[in-house]
Amino acid sequence: MPEGPSVRKFHHLVSPFVGQQVVKTGGSSKKLNPASLQFLWLQDNQVHGKKLFLRFDPDEELGSLGNKSLPELLQEGEREEEAEDQKQALGPSSWEISNQLCPSMERVVPSGDNGLECLQRGTPAGAAERWLQVSFGLFGSIWVNEFSRAKKANKKGDWRDPIPRLVLYFGGGGFLAFYNCQMAWSPSPVVTPTSDILSEKFHRGQALEVLSQEQPVCYTLLDQRYFSGLGNIIKNEALYRAGIHPLSLGSLLSPPRLEALVDHVVEFSADWLRGKFQGRQQHTQVYQKEQCPAGHQVMKEAFGPPGGFQRLTWWCPQCQPRLPANEQGQSQPSSGSQAPTSPHSALQGL
Ligand SMILES: [Zn+2]
Repeated sequence: MPEGPSVRKFHHLVSPFVGQQVVKTGGSSKKLNPASLQFLWLQDNQVHGKKLFLRFDPDEELGSLGNKSLPELLQEGEREEEAEDQKQALGPSSWEISNQLCPSMERVVPSGDNGLECLQRGTPAGAAERWLQVSFGLFGSIWVNEFSRAKKANKKGDWRDPIPRLVLYFGGGGFLAFYNCQMAWSPSPVVTPTSDILSEKFHRGQALEVLSQEQPVCYTLLDQRYFSGLGNIIKNEALYRAGIHPLSLGSLLSPPRLEALVDHVVEFSADWLRGKFQGRQQHTQVYQKEQCPAGHQVMKEAFGPPGGFQRLTWWCPQCQPRLPANEQGQSQPSSGSQAPTSPHSALQGL
């Protein structure tokens, strides 16, 4: 699942195409109508958290197209496909689909940030709405000058290559292929670098304040309003490195421990990003592990706010002990009592 560092890498891959014109399009997206991007110029490329924003401008010299606003170029199918995306992203059927496609991958419900938010209702795009907002959900990716190939046969034994939602061929001769991305036109990027964990402007004070709420820290960390770009891998790894139990209430953790947690979030994310550019696989210590580096058995359970999305969480009970009962208070949910109230409790143990 693409987290902040992966989306930064996608941003880097797209950058050489800025300033080039789209000369040919392809892809299966009905919502976007790939042909609507024909002859547009890619003028800017920004990354914010887990989202990529691409600015397209018409060629003003091409009178007819230049005067045409993007909504005229968009097609009717938009709303239907969006509704379908939403259903797939959120409905129970998505689990079946995900499980079939990626049996070895973590089966989790997408968190609200990259689920609903990126699938805003399709308001007609005005002339100013020239930013294509790209969200990567659980399996999205961008390929440059090559197409993704099937890694294995499907159940029928066919080797079918994945179908890109959008392909953009540029005047310079290269092309970009977008897979499993949710794309929508928007007026301008929502820029909040102070909450972007990979931004130099990331605001530690704000992060510490929100972490110190009376709420399990593993819920708070995934809140994209304050930790934009932070996903499930970073959550698990930062909590392990900080020696903090995922269900610890932030309000009961000392300021130095919360600071250590924020340090590990930033360090792990930055290291992951560096690794992306060096072709190095990011090493995890508890995420999808059976044992922690100290050789202890790692626990795995789905945690999330009551009624909210539950995310698979790995932790080491010895390296990340629960706070002693007398510090813990009565309100801290235990994994045992919390889980059955969740609508997604059926996901646990998957
Ligand atoms: Zn351990």
